[in-house]
Amino acid sequence: MANLDVFSDNIKSIQPYKVQSSSGLIKLDAMEMPYRLPEEMREALGTILSMGNLHRYPNSKSSSLIAKIKSTFQLPEQLDIMMGNGSDELIQMILMATAKSGAKVMSPVPSFVMYKQTAEILGMTFVGVDLESDLSLDEAKFLSAIEEHQPAVIFLAYPNNPTGLLLDKGFVEKVLEKSSGLVVLDEAYTAYASDNTVDLLERFDNAVLIRTLSKIGLAGIRLGYLVANPVICEQLEKVRMPYNINRLTQATARFMLDQMSYFNDCVRKVLAEKEQLFNWLSEQPGMTVLPSETNFLLLKVADADRVFQALRDEHKILVKNLHNTHPVLENTLRITIGTEMENRKLRQALSQIVQV
Ligand SMILES: *Cc1c(COP(=O)(O)O)cnc(C)c1O
Repeated sequence: MANLDVFSDNIKSIQPYKVQSSSGLIKLDAMEMPYRLPEEMREALGTILSMGNLHRYPNSKSSSLIAKIKSTFQLPEQLDIMMGNGSDELIQMILMATAKSGAKVMSPVPSFVMYKQTAEILGMTFVGVDLESDLSLDEAKFLSAIEEHQPAVIFLAYPNNPTGLLLDKGFVEKVLEKSSGLVVLDEAYTAYASDNTVDLLERFDNAVLIRTLSKIGLAGIRLGYLVANPVICEQLEKVRMPYNINRLTQATARFMLDQMSYFNDCVRKVLAEKEQLFNWLSEQPGMTVLPSETNFLLLKVADADRVFQALRDEHKILVKNLHNTHPVLENTLRITIGTEMENRKLRQALSQIVQV
């Protein structure tokens, strides 16, 4: 028998983050872009990747990629940028660097599950402030929780996953003012949102922005970036593995950032599809759909477990069932926007299932 005593009680008590199996299913569960890269782009990329010096370590800082990200996304000159193996790794680096004994991590809940998961793995105390039953955040309650708990790190997903809602910008500003710790603004869905927080980053030293290329069509390369004041990045750099971004990812991202018009077109198509699906869902009896500033919709039905299973087992469509994850998500499903055909199949499936 392996001796499990070597593992901390903390690790032994943590539930693993499970990715559900999707083989053979239409994948509407993980907020991926539904379109594969066009063939010409894949071929051009193949040529570029074939020239890479894979016997050499990658550029440690991803310097040329960072320069390209700064110009492509028009990020303020005076701020520093760091790259992560997905924004998941950036969340991990932020928490590793702040995991002092007794340090608290706070965010609204439900929100992105890796905030709590990573905090607890590192032995930090996670304080979740529950959303209201309409999925809004009680701002006064959140501000007084900051006062009470003095968190080392606050995470605000802007917009939020899994609700799809965008916080009021004035409120984000109040959180930055009130907090003596870091405030991480997670803009994973910024391409789909009506606003961003870059202006707040220029005004508040404790603001840290994280973004990802995953939701605009490059989930497979695992690349996220962090933008913050240089003195914060200087500390975070110490926990970053020297070669965390491999050569294939760096080269792919550099190539892809020259094709932003292609990605912007994809985002526009997804937004148009979302509007159609939203309108259709709003008219269906027995379902309630929430407006969303992301590439997914949150849908409330009478019996989420039944709808989820029927979608998966009878119609080969995989969505995310959020029932039993938090009281405010009772009987809700999170549905990523797919291609026109996938969304049509989803509508057909839902009308059949709900009729039964
Ligand atoms: C998907 C998601 C991430 C993680 O993105 P990766 O870059 O793929 O690790 C981070 N935050 C939120 C809110 C997300 O929904």
